[in-house]
Amino acid sequence: MHSTVPQTYPRPTRAVVTGAAGFLGSHLCQTLLAQGVDVIGIDRRDPVFHRGAYLNLADVRHDPRFIFVTGDLRTCAIEPLLPGADVVFHLAGIPGVHPSWGADFDDYVASNITATQRLMHAVTRLRVPRLVVASSSSVYGSATNRPSSETDHPRPASPYAVTKLAEEQLCLAHAARRDCATTVVALRYFTVYGPRQREDMFIQRLLKAATTEQPITLYGDGNQRRDFTFVDDAITATVAAGSALLSHSVINVGGGGQTALRDVVEHVRQLTAGRISIRSETARSGDVTTTCADTSTARRLLGWTPSTNLLEGLRAQLDWMTSRHNPSIASV
Ligand code: NAD
Repeated sequence: MHSTVPQTYPRPTRAVVTGAAGFLGSHLCQTLLAQGVDVIGIDRRDPVFHRGAYLNLADVRHDPRFIFVTGDLRTCAIEPLLPGADVVFHLAGIPGVHPSWGADFDDYVASNITATQRLMHAVTRLRVPRLVVASSSSVYGSATNRPSSETDHPRPASPYAVTKLAEEQLCLAHAARRDCATTVVALRYFTVYGPRQREDMFIQRLLKAATTEQPITLYGDGNQRRDFTFVDDAITATVAAGSALLSHSVINVGGGGQTALRDVVEHVRQLTAGRISIRSETARSGDVTTTCADTSTARRLLGWTPSTNLLEGLRAQLDWMTSRHNPSIASV
């Protein structure tokens, strides 16, 4: 009988998550642990002294199946983390477009490319069956008159985007070697938002501005459109990529719509009933006008479709921000 549900390997019993203290990494650790997977998380942030990271991992740090290792993938020993791992989720990296134009560029290259080369060397040497790597919609540049598809010619518009394209292609190049036992799945995430979103990202800055009545700087005219992806949806796709029966693949992970930033401002205005004062600045280099994902590959290969609309997701992020300021939680 023909089935449209993609086949999977058995659920992993042990996973390694790089970038575990970050926004996506911490959600992924939490979901895997809830599914009964043993998790080794690695991050260069110290979860005790870095307040944001500590809070990111607060829900899982006492779980006996969770081991957190503080280490920098540019220099640390990677192989000891890998024995017994069914899958490595490689989410560590330096995100963000703007700092990549300047003095931080070397860190982008070292963490997104050189560290990935070190990781791939170890992963393939120890024959870990699956590596899922966090790539980015930024590799496409701006979408034109239709959603971006994985076969489109990449047109990265910033140094950050160039490093993300190099990172995913580096993983795929290792995987294409004849002696390689690791299959690589590169996920191109489209603007992920939700609880624990990074402080530099638009929605987090906007919610903060709305709840503190501080002005927010909006770069460009606000007509830039983004395909916003709720974090739980992004994590569902990521977990599926860890065990789907696939050969090497590149897969878009997008929320399935496109919303202008000025419309997000209106949604947040309504949600918070707050006054939002906007400071307008000219658009910044590397900010593309539109991102929009063709998600048919994710549907076909992972059986995945996003399920959270923007209003629901904004409400969840706002609730999280509010609870974070509850002293009983902030002192965890
Ligand atoms: P994040 O900054 O919250 O998490 C990244 C983590 O990686 C951080 O905790 C950081 O300390 C760690 N890290 C960086 N360099 C490291 C190194 N050399 N060794 C060990 N740890 C290191 O970012 P995020 O938003 O969670 O993004 C996770 C991944 O997803 C990144 O690779 C990013 O490029 C990619 N991505 C994110 C989005 C998004 O919307 N958040 C969109 C597209 C792609």
